[in-house]
Amino acid sequence: MIQINDLEKSYKSGTEKVEVLKHVSLTVEDHSYVSIVGPSGSGKSTLLHTIGGLEPIDHGEIWVNNQAVHKLKDKQLAKLRLNEIGYIFQQFHLLPTATALENVMMPLLNVFSSKDIKEKAKESLERVGLGHRINHLPSRLSGGEQQRVAIARALVTKPSIILADEPTGNLDSETGRKIMHILEDIHVNDGVTIVLITHDESIAKRANHKIELLDGKVKVETVSKV
Ligand code: ADP
Ligand code: ADP
Repeated sequence: MIQINDLEKSYKSGTEKVEVLKHVSLTVEDHSYVSIVGPSGSGKSTLLHTIGGLEPIDHGEIWVNNQAVHKLKDKQLAKLRLNEIGYIFQQFHLLPTATALENVMMPLLNVFSSKDIKEKAKESLERVGLGHRINHLPSRLSGGEQQRVAIARALVTKPSIILADEPTGNLDSETGRKIMHILEDIHVNDGVTIVLITHDESIAKRANHKIELLDGKVKVETVSKV
């Protein structure tokens, strides 16, 4: 479960403090599928970053699977991310000089033996239908395939939560639909909680819990089914 209590977050811009999240409270149940929508600059990415412990907060509490993210030290945060959270981005963020397999192996380096890592990475790529492309560099893959590599990399640690920041934002609508099918399959069949930022209303409404941000506040929250 993700629980956020009265979260406040600002950035410093010169001498000014810009408040980006204002008194945000929300609960994301286990195994749910949540969409976050709202205009550009409303704080969606920042909210995702704070859940993943990537940004310090000014005030409030963030609990992820009973761990107090707001209190964890860097090393504990790294461990939480490794064990519980997979992250997917609009721009894929693959290492261009590494093959698909090597990219997917990356989160597990120094955690398991290299033979195990290779096996797990292969399995993860097969899970997203890319078993036949494991030795390709990202530049040799289509956008949809690159995003599938990124999903395989997020899944390789067996996270309970996937945080996805506009994962279809850089893809044509047909490819985006296929990527959403993969994420929804992971949600339904593996029980992974998905928290997804999107500008696409047809994607947002498929989630069972929709959070609309406006100017750093939760404007509307709709929980239809969990
Ligand atoms: P959204 O994802 O809804 O577009 P963001 O969370 O990216 O919104 O940004 C919210 C606000 O915070 C914007 O005004 C943005 O300019 C500002 N912001 C985001 N990241 C930073 C940063 N690292 N430093 C300063 N300001 C930032
Ligand atoms: P303290 O900061 O005094 O040590 P805790 O960290 O135990 O207290 O809890 C701080 C607040 O968070 C309390 O109000 C508590 O009820 C709430 N809390 C504790 N555990 C959870 C949890 N798993 N999910 C959400 N809220 C929690």
